[in-house]
Amino acid sequence: MAEVLPKAKLEKEIAKVLPEKAVQERTSYVSPERIKLTVGLSERAHELLKRVQDLECQRRRASINFEQTIEAALELYIKKLDPVEKAKARFESEVKTTDAAASVPGHIVGLYGFTRVRLPQRLKHQIFLRDKGECQHRDQSGNKCHNSRWTEVHHKTPVSHGGQNELNNLTTLCFGHHKLMHL
Ligand SMILES: [Zn+2]
Ligand SMILES: [Zn+2]
Repeated sequence: MAEVLPKAKLEKEIAKVLPEKAVQERTSYVSPERIKLTVGLSERAHELLKRVQDLECQRRRASINFEQTIEAALELYIKKLDPVEKAKARFESEVKTTDAAASVPGHIVGLYGFTRVRLPQRLKHQIFLRDKGECQHRDQSGNKCHNSRWTEVHHKTPVSHGGQNELNNLTTLCFGHHKLMHL
């Protein structure tokens, strides 16, 4: 039966019954140092990939593509879960003196040149949990922005006007909407 069906039609038939088989996983060299990877993704995996891309764009403050996203995710995975890499890191930390700079609290200069207080990690977690990492700006019709890339924490009442580092004085805004607040 399979021999009489044209290839495209056969693929369509397979996709109907086994959607996960519709894309044949393959790697092929396009140059001596570059590989083309073809994979099918579940919606869940696609969401995860886009989320990691958002986070990595934010961390680098630069746009990155899927290739760079996958590489960043794999590097982190290896660093966290590869027993060889973990052993290396442990060894290095025993040799190295502790990095005191990492624990110094204080002021950092924000993107727009104003000074702000470094937020405690616990407070940052609370903001992330409440706002789900999405811009909370609402337009005139009350529709939320929902942008989850290039987000920043904004003080509703600025620190310079007595605003506190408290959950109800802090909100998540995307780069564009945050900039608007400081015009
Ligand atoms: Zn702000
Ligand atoms: Zn926004």
